[in-house]
Order: sequence, then C-alpha cells, then structure tokens
Amino acid sequence: MNKTKIKKLEKLLSSPQKISIIPHKNPDGDALGSSLALMQYLNNKSHHAVIISPNDYPEFLKWLPGEKSILKFSKNEKITKNILKESSLIFVLDFNDLKRVGDLNNIIESSKSIKVMIDHHENPKNFADLNFSFPEISSTCEIVYNIISSLDSFFVNKDIATCLYTGIMTDTGSFKYPSTTSETHKIISKLIEYGANGSKIYEKIYDEFSLNKLNLLSICLNNIRKIEKLPIVYMTLNQKELDNCHFKKGDSEGFVNYGLSIKGIKLSVILIENKDEKIIKMSFRSKGNFPTNLFAEKFFNGGGHTNASGGSSKEILKTTISKLLIALNDFNYEF
Ligand code: 5GP
Ligand code: MN
Repeated sequence: MNKTKIKKLEKLLSSPQKISIIPHKNPDGDALGSSLALMQYLNNKSHHAVIISPNDYPEFLKWLPGEKSILKFSKNEKITKNILKESSLIFVLDFNDLKRVGDLNNIIESSKSIKVMIDHHENPKNFADLNFSFPEISSTCEIVYNIISSLDSFFVNKDIATCLYTGIMTDTGSFKYPSTTSETHKIISKLIEYGANGSKIYEKIYDEFSLNKLNLLSICLNNIRKIEKLPIVYMTLNQKELDNCHFKKGDSEGFVNYGLSIKGIKLSVILIENKDEKIIKMSFRSKGNFPTNLFAEKFFNGGGHTNASGGSSKEILKTTISKLLIALNDFNYEF
C-alpha cells in the first residue's frame, strides 16, 4: 500500500470526523461489503460514519453485519442530503465515476467535503482529493483490507471480516476469476482467522434463492441465443417474463454467467427490460481478453472491468438486440 497516501489518510482521520460512505447505485456484495467494513472500522475508531446507498439492494445482501444502519438516498433524500452536508469526509467505494451514483452525483460533486475514492475499476475519473485506485486488485474489499491493515494491524473483528470476505467472494466469482491472486487467498485466510465463516457466507449469498428466481432462470436459459459464427451468446428477459415471476431486485444476478459455461463461448450478454426506468439494462461477461468495459462504454453508455461490465440502452428490446449485433460487428474483435 502506498505509504504517502496512507499517511495522508491517517492525517485526515487523526481526530474524530463525521463521515459519509457512498457505494455505487444498485450496490453489489463488494460495494456493500467494503462500505460496511469501512464504516465499522471507522466507528470503532471513534468517528461517526454513515453509509448512504444511492438506492435499494437485493434481499440476499440484507443480512450483512451493520446492514440495518444503511440509509438509502432514494428513500430519505432530505436526511441524507443533510448528513452529506455535515460530513467533513466522503468516502466513495467501488466506483470511479460520479455517473455511477445517479442523482447523488451533483450533491457529491458540489460538496466541499474531502473526498476519498477506494476502487478497482479501470480509467478512474479525477474527482477525489485522495485516490486509492487499484484496477489490478480483485475487489474493493481487498483494497479496504489493505488500507485498514496498513492503518492499524489489530482492526478486524468477526463482523468486519464477514463483510470483507463477502465482497471478495462475490467479486471473484467465488475465487475463480483471474483477478484472484495468492494475495487474495492470504487475505481470505486472515479473514477466516478473524471469524469469517466462508461456508455460511456462501450459503447466505447463493443458497437462499426463491422459487420465483429459479423459474426466471429457467425462462432466461430458454431464451439463450448463439450468434452465428461468433463465440457469443445473448439472453433476454422482457418485462412480462419478469412480472410473471414476481421479479425482485437481484433475482437476475448471476444469470449472464451461465452463457460462459458453454464450451467455446467467450462473451455472454444479458438484456433485461425495465419498463419503469424505460431502459434495457445490459450485463457483459467475457473469458480471455475481450474488453467488455470498452465495448460497454463505446456502445451502451456503460463500463466496468475487462471481463465484467454493465451498460444500458434506451431503445426497446428488439432494437437493442439489433444494436448489439451491429456493435459487435463494428467492434470487429478477433476472437
Ligand atoms: P453487473 O453486470 O453485475 O451489473 O456489473 C458488472 C460490473 O460492471 C460491475 O463492476 C459494475 O460496477 C459495472 N457496471 C455495471 N453497470 C454499469 C454501468 O452502467 N456503467 C458503468 N460504468 N459500470 C457499470
Ligand atoms: Mn467491485
């Protein structure tokens, strides 16, 4: 960990501060795990830290230690705006572009508080006063572990360990993506020593699905289409299919990965209709070097990592599929 940056952070935290911690919109296990671990660490150090999530998140994350204290900007605009105004420090976690926090964007941008970014996405935007940006590291949770263990070697209790373990597990696809290093495993080993129960955490995240979610998965798998002559598949879920399965936030999490389990497939795309937001939400997953982040950024107003990105389209589903096929042709990647 960069010593100068740690020293700067140490200085910012040398007396009790009012702190806001912001994960990205639709926060995932890594965004929430890292925010909750950091919040609990800071509060144990006599600061007053609060997490403000731009919006709600899936049920399968609603057991994380400390989760009940999270405020949602979308539900408490007035209160959260005031908290942000009074914060001397704002930590932004698991994103590097203020576009990723929706309507909180302007409030953070115009805030006079000192901003600290902790993130692992490529091409960070330059809006923070202090940047901990490490695109080569598996997860924001791994970076948070490195930062707080550099600040203080006896920081971790069972709750913090559980939150960090969760984010590392979810962002590495349960320790199987290429971003998983020996360092990741060393940290995981430490987190288990500190009390994280890996098998229980896995169960909470992946073995508490609803029947509705599995029904939706079966529809989605039925909708898989292979693109002729290319190692690419895409799958769709329209609003009617979602409604029939009583879709809840997070129910489609992980579906896109099934495309990559087909032999020879290098890119999998899922397109999900969202009638409320009048968009098609897209997720991209690749094996090998296909840069899903550059592709999502160029054609679908999105971004992310090389092998996992998201984006969206304002066209209807059918038009978006055509746009996807044209974009792949334009991108002209040699698989
Ligand atoms: P997911 O497909 O699971 O929503 O997201 C995969 C990765 O891409 C995550 O790292 C997520 O933060 C990022 N991502 C998802 N949607 C967007 C988007 O619309 N814009 C950007 N810049 N990144 C996204
Ligand atoms: Mn992440």
